[in-house]
Amino acid sequence: MNSEPFPAAAAEAAERLAAHWRALAAAELPVTPPGAPGTTLKELPLTAPEQGEELAAILDDTWRTIVPQLTHWQHPGFLGYFPTGNSPASVLAELVTAGLGVQCMMWSTSPAATELEQRMCDWLARALALPERFTHASGRGGGVILDSASSGVLVGLAAGANRASGGRWRSHGTEGRHRVYCSAAANVCVPKAARIAGVGEPVPVPVLPGTHTMDPAALAERLDADRGSGLTPAAVVATVGTTATCAHDPVPEIGAVCAERGVWLHVDAAYAGSAALCPEHRRVNAGLEYADSYAVNAHKWMRTGTPCDVLWVADRHALTDALGAAPTYLRTAGPASDAVVDFKDWQIPLGRPMRALKLWYVLRAHGLEGLRSAIRHDIGLAASLARLVADEPGFRLVAHDLGLVVFRCDSDERTRELTQRLSEEPGLLCTPAEVDGRPVLRAALGSPYADEASVRRAWAVVRRCAAPAR
Ligand code: PLP
Repeated sequence: MNSEPFPAAAAEAAERLAAHWRALAAAELPVTPPGAPGTTLKELPLTAPEQGEELAAILDDTWRTIVPQLTHWQHPGFLGYFPTGNSPASVLAELVTAGLGVQCMMWSTSPAATELEQRMCDWLARALALPERFTHASGRGGGVILDSASSGVLVGLAAGANRASGGRWRSHGTEGRHRVYCSAAANVCVPKAARIAGVGEPVPVPVLPGTHTMDPAALAERLDADRGSGLTPAAVVATVGTTATCAHDPVPEIGAVCAERGVWLHVDAAYAGSAALCPEHRRVNAGLEYADSYAVNAHKWMRTGTPCDVLWVADRHALTDALGAAPTYLRTAGPASDAVVDFKDWQIPLGRPMRALKLWYVLRAHGLEGLRSAIRHDIGLAASLARLVADEPGFRLVAHDLGLVVFRCDSDERTRELTQRLSEEPGLLCTPAEVDGRPVLRAALGSPYADEASVRRAWAVVRRCAAPAR
């Protein structure tokens, strides 16, 4: 390996990224790329080069061919989906992680990486004021860094199904008897995970009238009815901060229902969970004392690049009973596996990169106060946007919580027209959704470059696009 050209190329990449971030901050780039489908494919040769090329040339091509055709998630006009985090500290950690090139499936394959991950999950559990039983320090539970909230749900459902079957899930699958429960507002990753875990489509639990949150009494009825007919409830997935409207399922009541019946409770707080960094938003933690597993995407709202989902479990053995595997070729002469944590048994894949360095850098570089002020800033911007929506004739504020604002026009036809026109606007991205059968637009604040002025600019674009139809 010739490492000679690396320092100069890395310095050049860092310069280019810093310039890119300045351009984003100044909104000099579009949010969405100008090219039609196939634009980038046309630029790329059909086959790989036979001879190696200079890193500088590859970097040039990145900025010539790839960057102009990206959707810029860090742009202040990017209000779509939920944000994905980023910061210089996170990028630096990714560089160092990649450079060290280690694989951390077991303690013995990278002792420091495993112990750093344990400590980072505990740091974050305490920063979010989670129940102490979720920490490694408790000796019972602990956290693991996964790629996504989707993986977090899948891992939780696997553990729940295995526990509910007394360990038979591992050997016999669900035998068609296990069921998973969530409301219609749960993220699409829940039915996907349920299918993969072998429990089929989740049982839909009705919502409380006039809300988008699960009805705990209806949940209790479904669980009891299914038990009565010989089925085995494996797990319930509650959501704190649903994707469409940032609704919060009543976890304390749902948790009590699950606890009484011994059913695994997974709480998906992919987006909203980060708000608990701020003491004034700790309502998002309500009921977590009942949760068996809990996941937050640090890569959504903690200035940490994707992927970085943190999953905590209250009982690590329930997880490793479901997912643990120790073939002879992975047995080492090192410490016994119960004396250390082997994160391969806490996730679906075997291999894994060193994931914790990113959190370590971000938590240290920003400090908890820095992350709190970023979240408060975004929440403040969302409040400003919500006021603009509420004050605008012809618009309706559908939902507003934390950094998410959901709105529509006073007729569905106008909302659809607005959605279509906005999709052609290069400087702003809001994402469409449906709430109570009606089309809506979602605007989620989270760009590190967004400010009051960028919110006013965004709203001016929305008004302009809505104007011809009003
Ligand atoms: N859960 C919720 C509430 C979400 O909003 C999302 C994505 O936005 C997910 C899960 C899926 O997250 P991931 O892409 O990390 O799997």
